[in-house]
Amino acid sequence: MDRENQLVARTARAIPSRAGGLLRLGIGDDAAILRPKRGIDWVLTCDAFLEGIHFLANLHPADSVGYKALARATSDLAAMGATPRLFLLTLAIPSSRTGAWLDGFLRGMARAAREFGLRLAGGDTTRCARTLASITVMGEIRAGKAIQRTGARAGDFIYVSGKLGRAQLGLELVRLGKGRDRRLAEFLRPHLYPQIQIELGEWLARRGIPSAMMDISDGLSTDLARLCLASQVGARIDAGRLPCVRIPEQIARRLPRRAHDPLRLALHGGDDYVLLFTVPPKKVKLLRRAPGFRHFARIGVITRDRHIVLVHQPGRAEILRPLGWDPFRQSS
Ligand SMILES: [Mg+2]
Repeated sequence: MDRENQLVARTARAIPSRAGGLLRLGIGDDAAILRPKRGIDWVLTCDAFLEGIHFLANLHPADSVGYKALARATSDLAAMGATPRLFLLTLAIPSSRTGAWLDGFLRGMARAAREFGLRLAGGDTTRCARTLASITVMGEIRAGKAIQRTGARAGDFIYVSGKLGRAQLGLELVRLGKGRDRRLAEFLRPHLYPQIQIELGEWLARRGIPSAMMDISDGLSTDLARLCLASQVGARIDAGRLPCVRIPEQIARRLPRRAHDPLRLALHGGDDYVLLFTVPPKKVKLLRRAPGFRHFARIGVITRDRHIVLVHQPGRAEILRPLGWDPFRQSS
């Protein structure tokens, strides 16, 4: 068997990839064959995970790279309310990473695939000076049930489904070279192995509760601006209601100053993958039975004017600028 074939065989063994159901023909031929069911919409997206941009090979454990690459892509399905089904993986790696590093990567990706209910339908493998994983992921949802970003209306309440800023705090620890420090596992986990909200997304979409929904991947300030732009509305956010991380003193002491402020982490920190959604007032009471409801925070309200206002206290407010993750921003 040639080396690329060996690599494909290793990948197929490591990650769930058996054909069946929707997947009529899986990995190993020139292409996969899918057989869709009637009354079902397919939800499709892709995501790139690049060394030097999204992760640092010397600081991030290999299994975290595999896990997170798949989690990021799949979170966009959760954000539509879809059930994850299949994915395609293009993986480019240096020859030096075809051993233990690749084993770790595949282990992490396999764990994510099992947790998310995903099967690997095919892909491509090649050599590159830097590691690159490009993932196309596909999910299903009852026809017409997917939740888009465009439906928010003035008066709708704005919710997030969990704490904000945890992943950014984990990243700051990784940058200090603490990515493998087991004593910090609790603070690193949200950054290295983000928990995405598939069950909640499905639950909300099935009941048609949100008027608009997306996942927070680049930070609240940036992603809320995208939702508002798509819906042609504005928002008023109550700073006191943001579910911020608590930073223990012994950790805060080691962090650079920009990572000290929990409010700043919550507003602009990326990679949390909680859901951001808007709910019309008359549907709010339906939320109480939602999975993970006790972690929800109602952070504000949708407004008619096109900007986003952050209210610190009555009489003290500012315009909230999108200062989350932006790969094209010049670093200062
Ligand atoms: Mg998204």
